[in-house]
Amino acid sequence: MHDDITLTTGRAHRVLTERIWPAVHETSVPLDVEWHALPGEPIPPAEGLALAMEPYEVGTPWGPAWGTTWFRLTGTVPAEWAGRTVEAVVDLGFDVDRTGFQAEALVYRPDGSPVKSINPRNQHVVVSDAAAGGERVELFLEAASNPVLLGHNVFERTTEGDTTTSSPDPLYTTRRIDLAVFESEVYDLALDVEVLLELQAELPTGPRRMRVLQALDDALDLLDLQRIPETAAAARAALADVLASPAEGSAHEISAVGHAHIDSAWLWPVRETIRKVARTTSSMTDLIERTDDFVYGMSSAQQYAWVKEHRPEVWERIKEAVAKGRFLPLGGMWVESDTVMPSGEALTRQFSQAQRFFEREFGIRSHGVWLPDSFGYSPALPQLVRRAGFDWFFTQKISWNQVNVFPHHTFWWEGIDGSRVLTHFPPMDTYNSQLSGEELGKATRQFRESRRATGSIAPVGYGDGGGGTTREMTGRAKRLANLEGSAKVRWEHPDAFFERARGELLASGTDDSAVWVGELYLELHRATLTSQHKTKQGNRRNEQLLVEAEAWAATASARTGADYPYEELDALWQQVLLLQFHDILPGTSIAWVHREAVAQHAAITEGVQAIIDRSLRALVGEGDVALRANPAVFAQAGVPALGVAAASAPAAAASTVTELPDGGYVLANDLVRITLDAAGHVTSAVDLATGRDAVAPGREANVLQLHQDFPNKWDAWDVDRFYRNSVTDLREAQKVTAAVADGVAVVTVHRQFSASSLEQVITLAPGSRTLEVDLRTDWHETEKFLKVTFPLDVRAEHVAAETQFGFHKRVTHTNTSWESAKFETSMHRWVLAEEPGFGVGFVNDSSYAYDVTREVSDQGVAPAPGIPEVTTTVRLSLLRAPRFPDPETDQGLQTHRYGLVVGADTAVATEVGATFGARPRELRGAAGFEPLVHVGGGVTLSSVKLADDRSGDLVVRVYEAQGRRTAGTVTVAAPVAGARTVTLIEDDLDGGVVDGLTADGTVTLELSPFEVRTLRFTLA
Ligand SMILES: [Zn+2]
Repeated sequence: MHDDITLTTGRAHRVLTERIWPAVHETSVPLDVEWHALPGEPIPPAEGLALAMEPYEVGTPWGPAWGTTWFRLTGTVPAEWAGRTVEAVVDLGFDVDRTGFQAEALVYRPDGSPVKSINPRNQHVVVSDAAAGGERVELFLEAASNPVLLGHNVFERTTEGDTTTSSPDPLYTTRRIDLAVFESEVYDLALDVEVLLELQAELPTGPRRMRVLQALDDALDLLDLQRIPETAAAARAALADVLASPAEGSAHEISAVGHAHIDSAWLWPVRETIRKVARTTSSMTDLIERTDDFVYGMSSAQQYAWVKEHRPEVWERIKEAVAKGRFLPLGGMWVESDTVMPSGEALTRQFSQAQRFFEREFGIRSHGVWLPDSFGYSPALPQLVRRAGFDWFFTQKISWNQVNVFPHHTFWWEGIDGSRVLTHFPPMDTYNSQLSGEELGKATRQFRESRRATGSIAPVGYGDGGGGTTREMTGRAKRLANLEGSAKVRWEHPDAFFERARGELLASGTDDSAVWVGELYLELHRATLTSQHKTKQGNRRNEQLLVEAEAWAATASARTGADYPYEELDALWQQVLLLQFHDILPGTSIAWVHREAVAQHAAITEGVQAIIDRSLRALVGEGDVALRANPAVFAQAGVPALGVAAASAPAAAASTVTELPDGGYVLANDLVRITLDAAGHVTSAVDLATGRDAVAPGREANVLQLHQDFPNKWDAWDVDRFYRNSVTDLREAQKVTAAVADGVAVVTVHRQFSASSLEQVITLAPGSRTLEVDLRTDWHETEKFLKVTFPLDVRAEHVAAETQFGFHKRVTHTNTSWESAKFETSMHRWVLAEEPGFGVGFVNDSSYAYDVTREVSDQGVAPAPGIPEVTTTVRLSLLRAPRFPDPETDQGLQTHRYGLVVGADTAVATEVGATFGARPRELRGAAGFEPLVHVGGGVTLSSVKLADDRSGDLVVRVYEAQGRRTAGTVTVAAPVAGARTVTLIEDDLDGGVVDGLTADGTVTLELSPFEVRTLRFTLA
């Protein structure tokens, strides 16, 4: 026969979009509308409802950036609509492609109770499922006129991202505010046609596709386009057979979970996220009530806490739906945090704060970690996830890789310590699924484990800025439950999916075939380790200060009976945890968010500092003895870890500075000799014990380098490989001075470049093998990347970089595309380039990124004449200047501290890294004190605190930092009644009781490589 498939599909597409969908609400009357516009910050709903209102005409522009407009809608249901479903239909001037990124509203009844939200893809409010006719309608809208920042012209510089710079002009124009009959048969026809139209597009030309096409033609022949509501049923009847044909036995199975990825801040401030969460959750609880099987999953305890505080009526609905198993708290984290940069203790608190919240409010725990969108995943996570009591891990972000396609979707992810966690990536490559035919086809075709596993997860709903699942999506799911040619869709808790997936992987008997070892490196967004330096600096400072505050407070509690500040610490931790959200700590939010983050970090520092001062004061008493407190977990300056002792002069001889005839300087002490040239660059750094020079022959180290940095997309997120091709060395020094102060050798260098200037204070302390640099930069650059380079005379096969509770090794070569893609990578407090017998470490107080390259030197002692020698160059990443989404990113004064550790191995780097940002505190009091906890052998201390359950038990967390098996001891210097091993979040473990607790409070431990162990001591 003659056939033209495109004729049928073109017809169905046009009739669907231009006739059938619009006919769903074709019978309507306008509502009367009044309004009150508030340009500034939101007000509580009770006040909004009480505002004096003015008449409003649909079509009038409304809403300046970040303003709130309260609308009052009133009307009467026409008598002839009796028995029909009646809905309010509101189009605030929406762009349907920008759901979550523009205006949205929460709808209230006159008594102030929220109904649901209105957004571009969810414009209806059910007024009555069966109207009486003649009843009054009154609704209020709290409409937020959030500006579109990531629009159709993406990544354009904009000043709308902060109220201090945004324009006062209205952004939106309403199109429709009506009362309408909901034509349910037309609506069902629309979904029937849509599902079949999308299904056939994924099918090969064959009987199934052709029958679907014929059914569509038959249905459209029966549809009278002038009388759609009257003829919809007949058209649907023509589609019934193809919709009833069941799926194949081996059809891919989709475990759908309703979802709205809601970024806790991003292109909107935290205050708007609070409202976004309320809007989305009100719609989702409404949808749960209107369906039988739909389940909705939401992560982030913080977002639940916001609803509880700010929209208690919605909170009650959430609690009810959680109790019924329809609203699913997911993820077990305070927020969906970044996982690359937070410290091990901070990630632990992401878990413990959330699980405690879920336990307290709902009596449940999350069983898996849900992180669809964070920018890469630390290789320490598998252990932390398992030791916190979780069974599974979920993300999809690695599908964003620029270069390499990840080889698995359901697999075991193995961390640095050998722990494995069952992990799943949805093969449809999205966390905002609409259950489209295209997505289902993609999931079926791409799923990498089809040989033995039956299905995958689909998070279904509008996300990023929220919105969530729509009734159209649940309608699609119903049709896709068992449909020939399609993947089978069912609503399901991810726990059920993972349970099945675990069985399928294990049943294969070859579960080693799907294993990924090490970090889940995202081959994109590499600049998120550097952008918005002050936000990162605040994070590093406060997560360390909080651990210090806990230790002093626990010591004060045990020694003096001082109250342990549980509530203050919880509140401060929760603030730090929120600021670790995956668009805040990575530096990818609007100016408003980062302005607030920096201010909040300053306030947190003040709060934690008060706890530290109070606790130390209680411990040292009143007196005038000069004391020194050591906040680090390693001894320093003659004071034991977490102890306070009388301040004493350094034992080592003073460092020296010698000026050279060429204008350079030599800084020296008992351990190292550093040579600077006249411009203040390091030309030699000799470890006196071995005679080895850290600096590559003929090269200069500590040279600042400025790159042009204009990525193809995602300015604050991305640095593209080509940035390396354009570089300027900042060689000139305006002024170089030298001195010795308090035994410390100091060289100060001033440099100016383009619109900026900087000062480097380079110091060598007595008895230290670390050349320290205090860098102050007055940064006024556009689209530039500042690095500092260290060409090393080290042939390193790997570079070791600290991560949570240990380090990971990355090769220095680029043999494969996987290695080549890692041209900008993460570290915590240190990174180390080492060859057997000699290594060079780099420590920092607030940086998270470095790169490493191999270079060829022909100036050294080559292995044989004429054969060049390979050296290793390590560069620390310091500052960037992207213009989107914050047009002023990182402008102004910035500070960094970093150090070159000459003659280091991983043990030295761990110790110097831990003390570098935890300098001793000078104070006065009656006397010092011995630490409450000390460790011996190969055990490294991480934290000392009182138990979260407020029992008064002492919790001590230790780990193995070198990647080897070790034995050691933990001693509590207080009367101890018992000790047991607990989970990372302090839950009891079967067999957790620790044998062999000695009378002096010592337990002996054996730790495996990078193992984290949490001990709980009951004090006598
Ligand atoms: Zn996100």
